[in-house]
Amino acid sequence: AEHYLERIEKINKKINALIEVNAERVLEEAKKLEKDEKAKKKPLYGKVVVVKANINVDGYTISCASKTLENYIAPYDATVVQKIKENGGLIIGIANMDEFACGSSGETSYYGATKNPKAEDRIPGGSSSGSAAAVSADLCDLALGSDTGGSIRNPASHCGVVGFKPSYGVVSRYGLCDLAMSFDQIGPLTKTAEDALLLTNIIKGKDLKDTTTVETKPFEKKDIKGFKVGVIKEFMDVVDKKIRDKIETSIEVFKDIGCEIVELNYKYVDLALPTYYLINYVEFFSSTRRYDGRRYGYKIEDVCGEEVLRRIMIGSMISQKEYSGKYYKNALRARNLMRNEMIKIMKDVDIIVGATVPKLPHKLGEKLTPMEMYSYDVLTVPANICGLCAGVVPCGEINGIPIGLQIQGKPFDDEKVLNAMIAFE
Ligand code: GLN
Repeated sequence: AEHYLERIEKINKKINALIEVNAERVLEEAKKLEKDEKAKKKPLYGKVVVVKANINVDGYTISCASKTLENYIAPYDATVVQKIKENGGLIIGIANMDEFACGSSGETSYYGATKNPKAEDRIPGGSSSGSAAAVSADLCDLALGSDTGGSIRNPASHCGVVGFKPSYGVVSRYGLCDLAMSFDQIGPLTKTAEDALLLTNIIKGKDLKDTTTVETKPFEKKDIKGFKVGVIKEFMDVVDKKIRDKIETSIEVFKDIGCEIVELNYKYVDLALPTYYLINYVEFFSSTRRYDGRRYGYKIEDVCGEEVLRRIMIGSMISQKEYSGKYYKNALRARNLMRNEMIKIMKDVDIIVGATVPKLPHKLGEKLTPMEMYSYDVLTVPANICGLCAGVVPCGEINGIPIGLQIQGKPFDDEKVLNAMIAFE
């Protein structure tokens, strides 16, 4: 803890990855752990963890990086946080993020943008920008992020770290401030794939406080020799040439490990962004109705940033009776279509591999249109739409900017994906 507190003191001012650190409290908790003989045998003993600012950690501000909740102190621990504490982990601080997890760049936080530790003039990606940057800059051992449409995988890719979004239902969201409940999952950002396996095993499990959760067996380390590895042609087609070259080289690694590469076709890539964003807008609009200025802080519309306001306004409009058939219900239909087709094409493969983001991260402060910003998500939202598990491992860099390989699996094939990540690394 002392080691990381020193690094945070030195480095965090520059990259703005953490927005709340209480050194006194951390040292006190560390001392308690050190005196506890039982804690020493626990799997996370000695591990220092950073938590995204939309997950409740008792006594810390759960601001979602918005002015709306800047004074709201979490009154309890989220299930994932409780599990980390029970397993000997030490929470060192709260990570910056895009406001209410709406974003792909880490620039929309009320507390200012996070910088990419590996390429400081570039965005770190988002929305779990601070969690990825903290791991990348070695400010902690492990971090928690949330992924609604790529928010763990996108910053993991840009910052050169490992990220994993478990299958929908594997990890409890109790204590997570939701963005879009039917997509959200909590997951780890780590330095190695083995650490991602370790932390996933700790935080997963059935939780009566989140009825979407199911119990899964512990994920174990296993050989992936003989795996059938799918590559979706239409996913490759939308990727910039230089990134595509890196991904193609990475696919060769799976051949060397003894896997068989299978080309797949998926005809609904064009539906991914409209389907995701329409459902996201409606669910987000609904979840923000509690920020009415009386219960939790300020009225959200009075203080929020442009992107959050855009989603509230469109969400409110398209969920009105006269519009619902035209946009929202069609988006729900498209989700079923995408999901059924994805499960069908994945039937005969163990995993699919490909790029995480289609382009390199832009320069910090560069002005993008909403559509340009959303286009970062085209390869990450399908996993959320289809309930898949998906992880990212670094696979090289272009001019010093990290590139992450995305590995996806069928719902509840988390063990296969984690093992593929370990094998690739
Ligand atoms: N970039 C996507 C969005 O803005 C994903 C965000 C997320 O996964 N939290 O909605």
